[in-house]
Amino acid sequence: MTEALNWIGRPDPFPNEGLASFLRHFARDNFMASRRALLQAIDTSHAIRMNADQLGKLSRILGVEHSVLVQMAPSDAPLVPSLRRVLTRTRTEAVCPQCLKEASYSRRAWSHVLATACSDHSLQLVDQCPGCGAGLRHDRPAAHLCDCGHDLRSAPVVASGAHETEVAALLERRVPAQPVLPLDLSDGVPPDIDLFLLGLINHFGFEDIAVRPAKAGKTPAPRSVTEARERLSVLTRLSADWPIGFSGAVADLMRAPEHNTPASVSRRLGTWYKFLFRQFRHSAYKAFHVAAANSIVKMHEGPIDARMRDLHALATVKKEWFTVAEAARELGMRSERLAAGVDDGRIRASTPNAGTLYRQRFLHRAEVDRLREIRDDFCDESAAADILGVPHSVFRILKEAGLVQMVNDAALPPVARGCISRSDLQALATRLLAQWPALDPSTSDHVALRDLNLRRTTDRQRLVGLFRAVAEGSLSPIGHDGTGLAGGALFSKVEVQARVASFSIAADLTVQQVSDLLGVHYDAVKVWVDAGLLRARRVPDRQGRPLVIELRDLVGFLLEFTPLSSLAAQMGSSSRGITDTLARKQVPVMGLDATRGVLVRIRDMVRAEGSMS
Ligand SMILES: [Zn+2]
Ligand SMILES: [Zn+2]
Repeated sequence: MTEALNWIGRPDPFPNEGLASFLRHFARDNFMASRRALLQAIDTSHAIRMNADQLGKLSRILGVEHSVLVQMAPSDAPLVPSLRRVLTRTRTEAVCPQCLKEASYSRRAWSHVLATACSDHSLQLVDQCPGCGAGLRHDRPAAHLCDCGHDLRSAPVVASGAHETEVAALLERRVPAQPVLPLDLSDGVPPDIDLFLLGLINHFGFEDIAVRPAKAGKTPAPRSVTEARERLSVLTRLSADWPIGFSGAVADLMRAPEHNTPASVSRRLGTWYKFLFRQFRHSAYKAFHVAAANSIVKMHEGPIDARMRDLHALATVKKEWFTVAEAARELGMRSERLAAGVDDGRIRASTPNAGTLYRQRFLHRAEVDRLREIRDDFCDESAAADILGVPHSVFRILKEAGLVQMVNDAALPPVARGCISRSDLQALATRLLAQWPALDPSTSDHVALRDLNLRRTTDRQRLVGLFRAVAEGSLSPIGHDGTGLAGGALFSKVEVQARVASFSIAADLTVQQVSDLLGVHYDAVKVWVDAGLLRARRVPDRQGRPLVIELRDLVGFLLEFTPLSSLAAQMGSSSRGITDTLARKQVPVMGLDATRGVLVRIRDMVRAEGSMS
């Protein structure tokens, strides 16, 4: 066929020249009328958006390195966005008059439908001839000449806007000199930046969301420089007061009734969501992701699904206000229960916009946080007993003694399962365990808190008193059993016995009661008291300041002495007879000179008996 032709001229491409421009050069150097004529001559498609498979053929026929052509040709996977095939200007070209003055060829950077400026000169591109008003055809005689003969180098120049200059640089994957868009280009310009910007414009660029077409993301590409410039102006709006402009656009989309039903946020996340979070995940776009996540999280009022969790993780703000239903979900409880707490004032909520149709109540984030803390902190008695490591019987006494405090149920918001604060329990455990050494719990000289129950005493009040002494700090543990539980606090057994194994004040006996119990005369008891053998004390706040004898002291007295009269009664003898018997056995008798209350010391009788045998 037409392969390996002997070309008269074989021009080298200019720096950053576009393929159409190069072919125009090539044609002219070989005395052909135009690019189109050249391609026809070698039987190759003259489409501007030439397919990649044509490049091999071109390379062979023209004798130009394939890699050199790749630098210039439109492609579906372009080296720079400028060369994206589907976004290549096909009908007319746009040019920078200043660039043409420097060298008359077309730059590849002008070929993209979003190119509206020259980033080298910060000038607007021109795609209409100032002489005849027609578009600039690719197959015009020379890059600087319109078909009408007008010299485009003399076209009036207009300074480009900041955004269009920036976009022009990005299309060539160059980091803009004065970036306005919130892109993170520390890892370079992503190769799909043009698609991202176009998507941004298509999805978020509608001033009035209501007239936004259903397939906004598929809006046709701009057909002229003017149209492209108009579309790019959206970027100015979206990046204004970053992130306010963009967040506003996201919020508008969230409010737009895309499905005609008041759907949850998840359902309201439309194709724009997929565009932003699924298709364009490059770190360069992070600021857009964060701003959108913030907007969504702030407005979210649906269940927290996997997608919402991702958004929460990305968002730098937290949701400020929660409806009762949302707050209930956050706290994992029934909303009726939460609403009841709002009704009776235990939960703070506000009702903004009194003018709206229905009076929705909102909880502030701080209130939800407070409720979460309360929910996490408070537990019921069963859990509290477990935390302390004591049986329920001991727990009840701890509670009665005030060592465990219950919060008034009526004051607590209805988010907790119980009314005992875990942090209080923890503080109690720390107090009981922290400053004491670990001891061997198997030795018998101490007793663990968990074992301080009613088996130790019949007097519940004594036991409560013991715990109260612990609460007040007058009784302290001497160690702990190493379990780390408050129930393992160890107390001295002697101390515990002294406090719980004694009798209560109710066992105080009057002189008359002792007299009746022992069957001895009232005066006899008086004699023992006066002699200091039976301990008694006066009770100053009772009528007549009576003498009282503690039961404990009476028992101690009877273990040591026995009244002669009761001995005689038991043996069916007279006091006289018993006295004689004892005298014979040389057992001393006490108080013989008194008329009543004669006593014998029990051990004296035993001793006398032993010496006889
Ligand atoms: Zn220029
Ligand atoms: Zn013209």
